Amino acid sequence: MKKLSMHWQIFFALVLAVLVGFFGGEKVVAFEYFGTVFIAALKMMVMPVVSLSILTGVSNIKKTENLGKLGMKTLFYYVGTSFLAILTGLYLVNRMQPGVGAQLGLQAQPEGWTEALRQRASGSAWETMLDMTIRIVPDNPAQAFVQGEMMQVIVFCLLFGYFSTRVVEPYRTLLRDLFQAGFRVTMRLMRAIMTLAPIGIFGLVVKIVAVSGVETFHSLGRYVATVSLGLGVHACITLPLVLKFIARVSPLEHFQAMSTALITAFSSSSSSAALPITLESIRREVGVSSGVSGFVLPLGSTMNMDGTALYECVAVMFIAQAYGISLDITQQCVLVFTALLASIGAAGIPMAGVVMMAVVLKAVGLPLEGVGLILAVDRILDMCRTTVNVWSDTCGAVVIARSEGETLKI
Ligand code: ASP
Repeated sequence: MKKLSMHWQIFFALVLAVLVGFFGGEKVVAFEYFGTVFIAALKMMVMPVVSLSILTGVSNIKKTENLGKLGMKTLFYYVGTSFLAILTGLYLVNRMQPGVGAQLGLQAQPEGWTEALRQRASGSAWETMLDMTIRIVPDNPAQAFVQGEMMQVIVFCLLFGYFSTRVVEPYRTLLRDLFQAGFRVTMRLMRAIMTLAPIGIFGLVVKIVAVSGVETFHSLGRYVATVSLGLGVHACITLPLVLKFIARVSPLEHFQAMSTALITAFSSSSSSAALPITLESIRREVGVSSGVSGFVLPLGSTMNMDGTALYECVAVMFIAQAYGISLDITQQCVLVFTALLASIGAAGIPMAGVVMMAVVLKAVGLPLEGVGLILAVDRILDMCRTTVNVWSDTCGAVVIARSEGETLKI
């Protein structure tokens, strides 16, 4: 009998998880164990995959002068698509007005929340940006690896990879082969871990369905609808158009090739946790070179967050509407800019976006406590926006690969 393909296995696991979570009562939360093991295995792979994919990617780029061009194109894509996402969100939230007349008492915030937000908001948006640029330079690369400081590791590996192409033979080839060898091992290991995906995803989703319940969604229904609609428009219309007309590839085929990575992003709420799978799939199923994927995807997983950018914008407008404060056009421009900044600054981990919201709220002069209004539904929106974040990263990798003249399998 033919073996069921991975995305079908995951799909059935997902359906089963929703049913078990919904009807299974409290005890089914124990299935979370499988999800925890799966996420731990993915996390184990993040640092090796990020460092080796960048080192392999950069040391494989034919002419090192091309690195600058690649960097510029990538940044242009990141900022361009995030900006489109924010505008989509802004348009919808102004049209649908989900916060106007919302009957909301401030919901209790879990301990430590206000403190986390206050710390985030302790500087202006400008200071946050300066701070971000200083923090990406690792003063101790080993410590950056140990503490999982993604941006710092990326910067160090980019530099190390670049200068490995500047040394004389035989060292240049030796280093390139060494990176390549390490990368191949991590990819083989990744494929083994991916066989756990259906059961891992089952465990994660059962828990979420079992503990979330449906009641919380009622009072915030219009807000959830606005964010979801915005994410849907961006993921199903804007990005496919970019794929079709700029990269000239079939959005549907690309989506199919990326389905395992997207479901992992959805169930883990973490772009970083999904990254090893995203890299594996884009190389194997789509045929993007390691030069491009090793550069665009790791960087994108922390910097390119279209879903988060859209969400920041809608959530802050919702909070303003719920407080009965109307933001004028200047404030909305500030909102667009700071939402972009917050999405770039957010780490690829669960709930990073909601913490970064402090920067945006402060910039437009809204109370930080407003976050309490939306926390109840944040988990589900986090799952959705993370999926869009990862989807945009993979579209970016395809767009850049095509612009470099690569032939793809889709
Ligand atoms: N969880 C998101 C991600 O990993 C970030 C966010 O909270 O918006 O992409």
